[in-house]
Amino acid sequence: MTQRVTVCEVGPRDGLQIAHGRMPTALKSRWIAEIAAAGVPEIEVGSFVPARVVPAMADSAEIVRAATALPGLTVVALAPNLRGAQDAHAAGSHKIVIPVSVSAGHSQANLRRSPAEQVAEVARIVAWTREQPRPARIEGALSTAFGCSIDGVVPASAVVTLAEALAAAGVDSVSLADTVGYANPAQVRALVRAVRAAVGARLERLHLHDTMGLGLANALAGLDEGIVKFDAALAGLGGCPFAPGASGNIVTEDLVFMLESMGFSTGIDLARLLEARATLRAGLPEDELHGGLGRAGIPRTFQTAA
Ligand code: ZN
Repeated sequence: MTQRVTVCEVGPRDGLQIAHGRMPTALKSRWIAEIAAAGVPEIEVGSFVPARVVPAMADSAEIVRAATALPGLTVVALAPNLRGAQDAHAAGSHKIVIPVSVSAGHSQANLRRSPAEQVAEVARIVAWTREQPRPARIEGALSTAFGCSIDGVVPASAVVTLAEALAAAGVDSVSLADTVGYANPAQVRALVRAVRAAVGARLERLHLHDTMGLGLANALAGLDEGIVKFDAALAGLGGCPFAPGASGNIVTEDLVFMLESMGFSTGIDLARLLEARATLRAGLPEDELHGGLGRAGIPRTFQTAA
């Protein structure tokens, strides 16, 4: 039987938050609709942060509302605090990702809180969400889990401790984020094993950046360890405004090519996905687009998994 792997497109959030250009709202909505129409099952469409901090995310409520009309799509939003999570929920987000930095330096730069204070905020968000008639799923995303451009080495024990704290706070799932792209495949294997030993199947997802060119190798290591959910960004956009030196996410279309070629089913039509690059190009004429398939096209030998 073909194994299913879920790819979550994070370009509209992780990509656009750091892009040089500002994509107009109507074009952003069209781009998201095209990605969904290509079969991408989950899209992180925006973040509920103050517009003065990340101006490109000011239209997130409108974008979420439009995305919830797309058939079958799981609409994901990022929120750093209870206020943001309430706004994300009010707009109709199906799932809300709450970042929790493992490194103290990134936590202060990104959230102006210590990691422990942010876990307490996650607990407040979970408690509030459970009182709602249609609660969104809450994911705790451990940022800088593989290293930090501000603090340097991030001990695996610190990641495990925070993953346990998030599980105790009641999150539905935990993800590990290589925010600055410092991970290597051996480290991915070891950390996935350690965190899974602590929180079991609550560890769902990897969020990988390709700073060192190891993004797909790291995804493969995660896959070998049984991870079947991955974040990625069309054309490899992305980066964190509060993590100096971070570069783009792993490239969605290249990840889908690798997975399908290896016999893992993603449900994504690669040709249609590639077509969505044109809308991205129209919306961000000045930004560099990355990716092997974007450069070379789909190889004539390519076969889908299912
Ligand atoms: Zn990221």
